[in-house]
Amino acid sequence: MREGRQGKHSHKFNLLRRFLRDLCAPRGEIFSFTSITSSPSFTSFPSSSTLSSMPTTNRQWLLADRPTGLITPDVLQLTDSPIPAIADGQALAKVKYLSIDPTMRIWMTDFPQYMPPVQLGEVMRAFGLAEVVESRHPNFKKGDKVSGLTGLQEYCVLAGDGKGAFQKLPSIPFLSDTNFLNLLGINGLTAYFGLLEVGKPQSGETLVVSAAAGATGSIVGQLGKIQGCRVVGIAGTDEKCKWIKDDLGFDAAINYKHPDWKAQLAATTPKGVDINFENVGGEIMQAVLDRMNLHGRVVLCGLISGYTKHDPGLASFGQLIIKRLRVEGFLIMDYIPRFMDAAQKLGMWKMTGKLKDRQTLVKGLEKAPEAINMLFRGDNIGKLIVEL
Ligand code: NDP
Repeated sequence: MREGRQGKHSHKFNLLRRFLRDLCAPRGEIFSFTSITSSPSFTSFPSSSTLSSMPTTNRQWLLADRPTGLITPDVLQLTDSPIPAIADGQALAKVKYLSIDPTMRIWMTDFPQYMPPVQLGEVMRAFGLAEVVESRHPNFKKGDKVSGLTGLQEYCVLAGDGKGAFQKLPSIPFLSDTNFLNLLGINGLTAYFGLLEVGKPQSGETLVVSAAAGATGSIVGQLGKIQGCRVVGIAGTDEKCKWIKDDLGFDAAINYKHPDWKAQLAATTPKGVDINFENVGGEIMQAVLDRMNLHGRVVLCGLISGYTKHDPGLASFGQLIIKRLRVEGFLIMDYIPRFMDAAQKLGMWKMTGKLKDRQTLVKGLEKAPEAINMLFRGDNIGKLIVEL
């Protein structure tokens, strides 16, 4: 019995060591377009038989019109274009998974924003995970997996022109491909830096998180528990509430579609709220602000309730002044140099069972526009991903 337990522990220890080694390994390999030399040595250049068996068409979703509400059929247009021939210093990758993110709806507008809006006629911007199928670049070989801005399409070129960046992914036995778009992708990192750096949780404090059963919120709540907080999640269905409470260990979960949800919020935060991790805005944010304690912290992560409306319906900011709250917006892009450290910690918590993540998978590139709408209808639990 003892031997069995020891064996199990040493197996886990080995996995952990391997995990750290693998996760640290790409640190020096993070693909930097500026580091490409003008005369790269070629690796894994495919044979002509490989090339001839390759499909020739790349299906792409182009932005055809700017949306006013949810995505209607005229907004994105599915087109066929030839798969580009790669040049020296480039690689071609086949997209396997597309990350469906609320910010895609912002990228479709031409309002001032943190990245240039997608232009009409361009391939719709999206994060994704892709596998290298052909390479004339020294840093990539066939079979390598990368994550980055693949776009809503079947094939993308990893180019050395400085227009984007892809990160080569390590192979880790207990992590699936989709983990790299979720817990170890934008959402896990947003939860990590947003809560730990901006929210600065202390043991015993009360944390409320909205969109709590979504990709980011579900990780925020679990990180709050790891930090010793009382965690209350707000989500839109009883099924979501059951998941975050029973499986993820939140102390309480409130369905904001129940008529008495504000009374439930008061009942489940008897000592008030110290940290509000805000993903939604509007009436939900207002109700949580009303429960804030003196000198509480509001982590302004997202305001999804306003993304499909002209009037974002932001909460009244009067409470911020009355309660002398610190409200801090943040963008995950600001933390890029520290992603590897955070990913190691998130990976360790995942391996030791302290963090769980979940995916809602939608199959087929053609379903991508409808998948974006699912985010605004609350049709996802955990991370929403389109599988190609
Ligand atoms: P989620 O997986 O949380 O999906 C969005 C969820 O939001 C839905 O499932 C839905 O759940 C909820 N929702 C949608 N519309 C409304 C509404 N009108 N009122 C209340 N809830 C609503 O998405 P993400 O985890 O990717 O993103 C969560 C938030 O984090 C977004 O605001 C996003 O913009 C932001 N974000 C910010 C980043 C940053 O760098 N600052 C980076 C990444 C994300 P329900 O059923 O509960 O309504």
